[in-house]
Amino acid sequence: MNIFPSIIRNAASNLIDLAWPHTCLGCGHRLLASYEHLVCSDCLMGIPTVNYYKHDNNYVTEVFFRESVQIEYGCCYFQFKKSEWTQNLMHNIKYYHQPELAVKLGHIAALELKNYNRFADADYILPVPMHPDKIKHREFNQAERIAAGMSKAMQIPIREDILEKTVNSATQTFMGRSERIKNADKIFAAKRVGECAHSHFLIVDDVFTTGSTLLVCAQKIHDTMPEARVSVFALAKA
Ligand SMILES: [Zn+2]
Repeated sequence: MNIFPSIIRNAASNLIDLAWPHTCLGCGHRLLASYEHLVCSDCLMGIPTVNYYKHDNNYVTEVFFRESVQIEYGCCYFQFKKSEWTQNLMHNIKYYHQPELAVKLGHIAALELKNYNRFADADYILPVPMHPDKIKHREFNQAERIAAGMSKAMQIPIREDILEKTVNSATQTFMGRSERIKNADKIFAAKRVGECAHSHFLIVDDVFTTGSTLLVCAQKIHDTMPEARVSVFALAKA
């Protein structure tokens, strides 16, 4: 019996699975149709979108209003719940090296935002930065990949030379809002870039928990470029 063909077939199949996963990164079911890539049609149709982007005033804009940080507009796209399939999406991006999933979800979210004319006049998308040491370890910044998908859909360029993460910090998961804001204030910085000092920046993050990261990044931009306008977006609301 010639075993090589089956070994070669399995190896080829594993390689294809790596490059083009055959199971949905949300529900884990097998992808059936050739047009399904990374996420199955059922999951895509069932994404639990929050309605924030349909309303001028929403949870995100209220958080910024309460904290007295001025924004043009802010919203999230879908609700992320622990132990549900939406958690798989975010974990697959973050911990299981699926940058393409971040691009795909950013693109889908941006198409929906466009339907409501959100961020239409933003000049630049600024992904919340990741510390260079962390990028070395993870190989990509998920906020930058989400921004890449949005950039493609909205035709708004990305800039990564304005916001900076200066400290490779530990997770903020177990901190309250005020503790998170104090912590974020120490680890993010913004640089004044003269040519875009009057621009409208859209800051993009992966998850909105208390909003501390986006609050601090927006404030840092106001501090360094007072003439600039700022909007904020997070793919998921925790
Ligand atoms: Zn699915």
